[in-house]
Amino acid sequence: MSLELWKRIQLAVGAVADGIPGPATARKIAAALKVQEPLEQQANRFAAGLVTGAAKNIRRIAIHCTATREGQDIDAATIKRWHVGQGWSDIGYNELLRRNGKVELGRGLDAVGAHVAGFNSIAFGISLVGGIDRSGKPENNATPEQMAGLEARLGALVGLYPEAKICGHRDLSPDRDGDGVIEPGEWMKACPCFDVIPWAASKGLPVADIKGSWGEIIAVPVDDGGTVKVAGPDARLVYLQKLLARTGLQFGPIDGIVGDRTASALRLYQEFNGLPLSGTFDDATVKLLRGTFEAKAAA
Ligand SMILES: [Zn+2]
Repeated sequence: MSLELWKRIQLAVGAVADGIPGPATARKIAAALKVQEPLEQQANRFAAGLVTGAAKNIRRIAIHCTATREGQDIDAATIKRWHVGQGWSDIGYNELLRRNGKVELGRGLDAVGAHVAGFNSIAFGISLVGGIDRSGKPENNATPEQMAGLEARLGALVGLYPEAKICGHRDLSPDRDGDGVIEPGEWMKACPCFDVIPWAASKGLPVADIKGSWGEIIAVPVDDGGTVKVAGPDARLVYLQKLLARTGLQFGPIDGIVGDRTASALRLYQEFNGLPLSGTFDDATVKLLRGTFEAKAAA
């Protein structure tokens, strides 16, 4: 870690910004993150948010469940062990909501989480402990305390992230049939095992309009201080980008946004396959991609 980065971290946590991390810096970082872990690890976690400005770009708050039984009141340290055991760098969720309704720190506010494929860079993940019954089937078994705690926490989070809209993990499944609606048959997971959008809307919280408007137009800040309008993340496009990635073409993040890089990759794919060079997921391109890769997946 560079001297300059250490100074920025020190400044952000209110330590003396001399670029030399000592015990005082360690204490300040630990307090900011509300966790105990080795200094270098803390600094990396903090730097991830500082450097990428991750927290500024949060457009979705995805509600999860831990897929554990009603009687299991597990904590963030336990889930971290599971996730690290799967080869991840840290717990996947930004925050955890315990059975008693209390919020526990996961990966933290400023870190990019690992909880919803294709959307991690723009989504904050909060997970309710629970979600399955004795036989392991999806069950909405959140406690009244958890639901009250979730409502309160979401109220605070939408204050922190004014662009954020709330949805459930399952609402971010790909729209495989392309009809603009994420039907239960398309859910990759039942998570979080209850219908988040109507619940959150009933509490007056901002919710994602998942019924087909994933290609919403959003304003993105540009260097000269203005904004440009681009199509926002689109669950269907995330799925199609995943198919496109399987061709071996490189085009940047799978984020549901067809930017210059995705368009270039599409034109190459279209050129290889004798299709019109539209640079978009047009009908012929989608048909070929799905025909090629979905058939293989089914075999
Ligand atoms: Zn989930």
